[in-house]
Amino acid sequence: MDMNTIESVVATTDPGQWREGDAWLAGGTVLFSYGSPVGSEEPLKRLLDLGQAGWPAVTVGDAGIELAATCTVAELYALPVSDAVAGRNWPGLDLFRPCCDSFVASFKVWNMSTVGGNVCTALPPGP
Ligand SMILES: Cc1cc2nc3c(=O)[nH]c(=O)nc-3n(C[C@H](O)[C@H](O)[C@H](O)COP(=O)(O)OP(=O)(O)OC[C@H]3O[C@@H](n4cnc5c(N)ncnc54)[C@H](O)[C@@H]3O)c2cc1C
Repeated sequence: MDMNTIESVVATTDPGQWREGDAWLAGGTVLFSYGSPVGSEEPLKRLLDLGQAGWPAVTVGDAGIELAATCTVAELYALPVSDAVAGRNWPGLDLFRPCCDSFVASFKVWNMSTVGGNVCTALPPGP
């Protein structure tokens, strides 16, 4: 939907820039569907765009896996069969795909929605 109260979109990851009337913009599947954060009808003035952060979606090391807040569901789904985890004996990897599949996800949500956005919206079926 159109968000006709937005005055600016700011590319930033700095929490110090947040002010009243702002919302962090990740994949935008909630913000651009509802026009506001879940549970709020206050008009937004600015979107703080995390999409420009350039964080690597997935970082794999000997200590484990680090997921960026901006990692999409599609990127998460690809991880268990990727070279990045080849040869790793991590049983938890088997859970990634069933968790992603438990989304009732359209193409849009699958490819745009993020791990961080899912945690922050905390919707009841949140996989
Ligand atoms: C048609 C449809 C179907 C859906 N199906 C499901 C489903 O089956 N299961 C499910 O769990 N959810 C579902 N959702 C909800 C939504 O897609 C997910 O919660 C998704 O992960 C949101 O991610 P996003 O990156 O698109 O968030 P955005 O729309 O960008 O942001 C959502 C909210 O989280 C805040 N936010 C996002 N990232 C951050 C961050 N890093 N730090 C602080 N705040 C942040 C935003 O400010 C905003 O308030 C669905 C939504 C739609 C529109």
